[in-house]
Amino acid sequence: MALLIKNGRVVDPASQTDRVADVLASEGKITGVAPNLSAPGAEIFDATGLIVAPGFIDMHVHLREPGFEHAETIESGSRAAAAGGFTSICCMPNTKPVNDSATVTSYIVERARRMAAVNVFPIGAITKGSQGEELAAIGAMKTAGAVAISDDGRPVMNSRVMRRAMEFARSYNLPVIDHCEDLNLSAGGDMHEGLASVRWGLRGIPSASEDVMVARDLVLAQLTGARCHIAHISTRNAVTMVEFARRQKLPVTCEATPHHFSLADEHMPPYDGNYKMKPPLRSLCDVTAVVEGITAGTVTAIATDHAPHAGSEKMQEFERCPFGIIGLETALALALEALVHCGKITLNHLVELFTTGPESVMRLGRGTLAPGAPADVTIFSTERVWTYDVNRSNSRSSNSPFHGRTFRGGPVATVVNGEIVWQRQ
Ligand SMILES: [Zn+2]
Repeated sequence: MALLIKNGRVVDPASQTDRVADVLASEGKITGVAPNLSAPGAEIFDATGLIVAPGFIDMHVHLREPGFEHAETIESGSRAAAAGGFTSICCMPNTKPVNDSATVTSYIVERARRMAAVNVFPIGAITKGSQGEELAAIGAMKTAGAVAISDDGRPVMNSRVMRRAMEFARSYNLPVIDHCEDLNLSAGGDMHEGLASVRWGLRGIPSASEDVMVARDLVLAQLTGARCHIAHISTRNAVTMVEFARRQKLPVTCEATPHHFSLADEHMPPYDGNYKMKPPLRSLCDVTAVVEGITAGTVTAIATDHAPHAGSEKMQEFERCPFGIIGLETALALALEALVHCGKITLNHLVELFTTGPESVMRLGRGTLAPGAPADVTIFSTERVWTYDVNRSNSRSSNSPFHGRTFRGGPVATVVNGEIVWQRQ
């Protein structure tokens, strides 16, 4: 069955396309992008007035399966991804058991093949159990389908272990995705260390806990030649250091999350667990730096760090709440609001941040509408007004600070391998 997407504004940075055209998909591949295509018998999607882009890639998602299925499963998380306009997601290894072996990687690949609404690519752990000591079975995980390595959330504190990991990653040509946090500096902290944390009597997580690890790992990337990708960058110093490293032609990239470029600590309602995440919401000065990093091309990807936690876990006093928020369904709308509508970046640049940016790190063979590419397509509106109701989320969890927010623009339909897997009702 073929699918013909009619009359949309096709924005495909990979092939430098930005014009009104039709997109034809058949047998899971893009087979044509041109005005006035016809395909007898094809399913027609009228995209008049909408943007038709390559399928969005979210390189930083927590799917919680295996082990924490009460919070999210590969199926529910992938449906939330589809509803957010994402056609490919990469899932972090902090499951139970940790994805540190080919067995767990294969389990995720197999579950995803049967249950997932979108393409799911596992990220393997750097160390066994993400304990930071012994390297995980990196080569075997790659063979089983892992596309990167990371100990996200439990960063490798031992610099010698991180060096060895980068050497391995380099020889396997895998990127290292780096959650930069000095656990000794951040220990006991619940929010950004600043005026708000002092005012509310909460222990702070200093920007320095991120900065010192970014510095260390940029140095180690230089030493080893490994591709180092800084996850969820949140501080002004970190952006400056990545910019410097990229100017030195180091193989360094970084991503920003929608919450880090649209919210600051001073926007938090006091003691609301739906605003608690790592890295924490930083100062306005940091938020401005992240936005500037995006505008300048230092930050090359938007990733959600979608981190579901079941209701019972977030219904606790602030200090006891786990870190993390869900983000798949609001990412595009937040990016439009914080970056495009206010003129900080072009629509073409926004599409890059969701497609070619993550693709250049993860190398999934996606992120373009060129003929022959997998028929993954994100269809969205820049204008349609809608309100986010977290109680109707596709995710099993509802820990979002954006519940009840009204947005201008968002996903309209999501096409994976030539099939419409989600459509706004
Ligand atoms: Zn992280």
